Amino acid sequence: MELIGKRQGFATNSSSTHSIIFCPPDTSNLNINNRYGFDPFICASREAKINYFVATVVSNIYSYSDNKDSNEDILYYISEIYRLVREKVPFSLFEGFPANSYVDHQSCFSIPRDVATNRLSIEFFYELYSEILDNDECAIIGGNDNEESTYDYGVLSTDLQLRYSEFIDRGNFLIRKEEFGYILFFQDNGTKLYYGKSGKVPLADIQLPKKYVPELVDMTITDYCSKGCKFCYRGCTAEGKHASLYKVITYIDELKKAGVFEIALGGGEPLQHPELLKILEHGYDKGITMNLTTRDYESLKSPIVREVLQKYCGAIGISVSNVNEMKKIREILDTLYFKVTYHYVLGLEPVEKLYDIVQEAIKDPPSVASILLLGFKPTGRASDLDEIVYEEDFINITMNILKKKYIKLGVDTAVINRYPTYFTNVDPKLYYKHEGIISKYIDAVAGTMGESSFVSPERMVKIPPYNNAKFIELLSSRL
Ligand code: SF4
Repeated sequence: MELIGKRQGFATNSSSTHSIIFCPPDTSNLNINNRYGFDPFICASREAKINYFVATVVSNIYSYSDNKDSNEDILYYISEIYRLVREKVPFSLFEGFPANSYVDHQSCFSIPRDVATNRLSIEFFYELYSEILDNDECAIIGGNDNEESTYDYGVLSTDLQLRYSEFIDRGNFLIRKEEFGYILFFQDNGTKLYYGKSGKVPLADIQLPKKYVPELVDMTITDYCSKGCKFCYRGCTAEGKHASLYKVITYIDELKKAGVFEIALGGGEPLQHPELLKILEHGYDKGITMNLTTRDYESLKSPIVREVLQKYCGAIGISVSNVNEMKKIREILDTLYFKVTYHYVLGLEPVEKLYDIVQEAIKDPPSVASILLLGFKPTGRASDLDEIVYEEDFINITMNILKKKYIKLGVDTAVINRYPTYFTNVDPKLYYKHEGIISKYIDAVAGTMGESSFVSPERMVKIPPYNNAKFIELLSSRL
């Protein structure tokens, strides 16, 4: 399996170290006893490597998952191992797992959980692990880094180590199986990894099937906003209505069942929705990552609002149009370790203003801030404005400035499609071009769905109430 894409999101070591090495085919096993921690061991034979595989699964169930799995889940895992390995496994089907098996937490592969069922995806782990299992010149060795030792047994496989390191001691991964392979979503920092089963077609060029459940959904929960921005592409006003709590919660439930990873709540001004707390709590309890975009700096001054956002949200997008607003945000959120993404709309001001914003962003710690550039959308009140088209390759200039502090840069598909030539130097593993496939838009006030929040009203489709099948059908179709 190849890593064909990575989407950086709202973005170890220990006493034990386990390594993947290349070694002579006749390398002997050492200390194969189901417990892989501090003491030295070598898993060289296929049988020993299966033993390590099973110990990893057992550790994920019993040691590192807060008892998420029922007996039914565990029976499912046992049957999965028998189905996948199809040869001698180190336990009896009728007696179950050797419960004393163990891989040290700092070296244990975190097996992702299926986004809809919440079960460990042993199938994904097995497919990835097969390149070690099927190669008799590849072994896993372990021990500890408290003692002087040399790798006398072979050469460290840097390439394989890198591929696995994403999963070591990293917390909560969700996974979805797709035609092209797998998508993994790391809930703690929003990173998505795309694994292709065959070939190396990067994310930017991949052809997704006609039916595809989006990975994230942009949801308007209110049309209310009193800011009156002249560039508001949704034309929101203080007369705007809020979506009902019932409708929003029903949509969240359907999206979770369908396998959507993230919901970006927007408006209008979502912080003005009277039931926002219940909405965020509900999404959080369902295990779907809730993000939110706001321009309501006043509400952010409330410690209660900040506490709620910090507890229930993955990341907060804050719309900014100049450097002074960024300074104000920094003052308000100073004491909190927020995951903030600055949203900046292109085409409203000369390109120099963008560089001012970028220079200001690098004053934030990289763990706190990232920038999302949004394309100009000529709808709502913005339809009265003239877009300024940037003549210079602002993407590469911006990336070079942000590199100094490793601050993340994101763009929406409107930017990619508006300035395709500026993306020729960007790794095609890092972006996707088509609107309305990887993401969808739901207007919970109107009860409609569309490809994006800026399609014309005629292209928005009514969501029929109380019809789960139709909801999934709309969600996974090209609208
Ligand atoms: S752009 Fe955002 S902040 Fe401005 S009026 Fe529209 S919804 Fe309100």
